[in-house]
Amino acid sequence: MRVAIIGGGIAGLAAAYELEKARAAGTDVEYTLFESRDRLGGSLASETINGIVLERGPDSFLSEKPAGAELCRELGLADQLVPSNDANRKTYIVVKNRLVPLPDGLMFLIPTKLIPTALTTLFSPTTKIKMALELLHPPRPSDQDESVAALVERHFGREAVDRLADPLLSGIYGGDATQLSARTVLPKLVEMETQYGSLTRGMLAAHKQMRAKMAAMRAADGNGSAPRPAGPRSIFTTLKGGMQQLVDAIEKKLQSESVRKSTAVDSLERYESGWRLRVGDRGEFYDAVILASQAWVAGKLLAATDAALGDELTGIPYSSSVTVNLVFDESQIGQLPDGFGFLVPAVEGRAMLACTFVHRKFAGRTPTGKAVLRAFLGGAKNESLLDQPDDVLIATVRRELSEILGARIVGPHIPAEATQVSRWPRAMAQYAVGHQERMKRVKARAAELPGLRLAGNAYDGIGIPDCIRTGRNAARELIAEKQPVAATN
Ligand SMILES: Cc1cc2nc3c(=O)[nH]c(=O)nc-3n(C[C@H](O)[C@H](O)[C@H](O)COP(=O)(O)OP(=O)(O)OC[C@H]3O[C@@H](n4cnc5c(N)ncnc54)[C@H](O)[C@@H]3O)c2cc1C
Repeated sequence: MRVAIIGGGIAGLAAAYELEKARAAGTDVEYTLFESRDRLGGSLASETINGIVLERGPDSFLSEKPAGAELCRELGLADQLVPSNDANRKTYIVVKNRLVPLPDGLMFLIPTKLIPTALTTLFSPTTKIKMALELLHPPRPSDQDESVAALVERHFGREAVDRLADPLLSGIYGGDATQLSARTVLPKLVEMETQYGSLTRGMLAAHKQMRAKMAAMRAADGNGSAPRPAGPRSIFTTLKGGMQQLVDAIEKKLQSESVRKSTAVDSLERYESGWRLRVGDRGEFYDAVILASQAWVAGKLLAATDAALGDELTGIPYSSSVTVNLVFDESQIGQLPDGFGFLVPAVEGRAMLACTFVHRKFAGRTPTGKAVLRAFLGGAKNESLLDQPDDVLIATVRRELSEILGARIVGPHIPAEATQVSRWPRAMAQYAVGHQERMKRVKARAAELPGLRLAGNAYDGIGIPDCIRTGRNAARELIAEKQPVAATN
């Protein structure tokens, strides 16, 4: 079987790795990975400047999703994994230029502790009363998708959307809470509303169940009959050499002749026995195709084969973003607040959506004495920022940091030792209201096209582990389809 993989981001790389493993184990499979850029990795891109690892794209992945660390271990990178420094974990929300810590007991946007919620200055007394009354919400069957903003506003009021849901989601998805699908992005909350009515009661019940499960496991462990639970897991995991280390480790495993960089696939046609790719002025034939490009590219490529499927894919919205890394000598700047950094609600009217104190988030990865501040800008509401030149973006970030953190701490007069600006046009898929329904239609139509698989951040999870999972599954499914079914009986 000959497989073409279109797109050498982490999803396409994971697919190629899986096919290479099968090939090396004796399966009759050949693959070619096409990547239009001159480098692999897509959004994963780290650069080491003056001995400091700077991330242009993602800086880590969620530890609770196993596909990320699992792949790193398989690639021999176990000793390179760095957990986030959760003891120092504290995140602030900017409210009128002040940093207000997220109140203790917040789970998945839901306040579950009375006293910290009552005492926080993040919310007005009216919102706090609404939060207390939320406990009385009756169960509500969920028959239609709605936006995250609509769900949160119904329970906790508009201020909770502006100061909590919106900044948390734009910091993760570069997204807009009024557009994102509650069913896709917050499925647990939608279930809780159906079962309990109150999201706070639902969250407390889920927490209680989890504690009971852990206690039962510990009790069983006393009898030696249960697997020993792993130690506490960090929230995020990164690699000593940055996310690029993962890309490089996969590339090393692939056969070099199977990887074609700076080679865009221009069109795709379905033939009875397979697929024809046009690459420049050449046509190439494959039995199967894994489309691991952005969905808007996949949609264009599939338009000639199935116009409706092409439209569904090009209809998946994407947001664009910019990251700005600033490196300082710690002795030159003032004392930064404790914690990992802060999020900026859109209602604050700033360019910055979030800022991470990178040297705090991952202990030991930044050389002692250096501070790395990484700003995240753009998002669904501010795409035009990508057109601004680097010096303007750096000046904007420096001015906003000075206004938020204080001129004495990190004012524009303090020299940065290094700066780095990266633009990510239409790189993050947005799971808009109705995403699940769209996915049902996409899956049904794609299933009618033999040998076609879709992988990447547009479908079933935007994070790195989700992209790895979709890439590996796409490859495994194609291999399984081609394998003769073992005779049973
Ligand atoms: C700034 C930023 C920060 C992020 N932070 C995090 C984070 O901290 N943690 C996390 O888990 N996730 C994070 N994400 C999300 C995550 O990085 C992405 O969702 C994921 O990397 C997407 O991988 P992918 O393979 O689906 O797509 P991509 O990385 O977009 O790769 C698609 C590839 O297809 C190629 N391509 C397109 N068209 C063609 C063609 N015609 N022929 C050949 N090749 C083509 C493109 O050049 C590209 O390399 C972040 C994303 C961004 C942009």
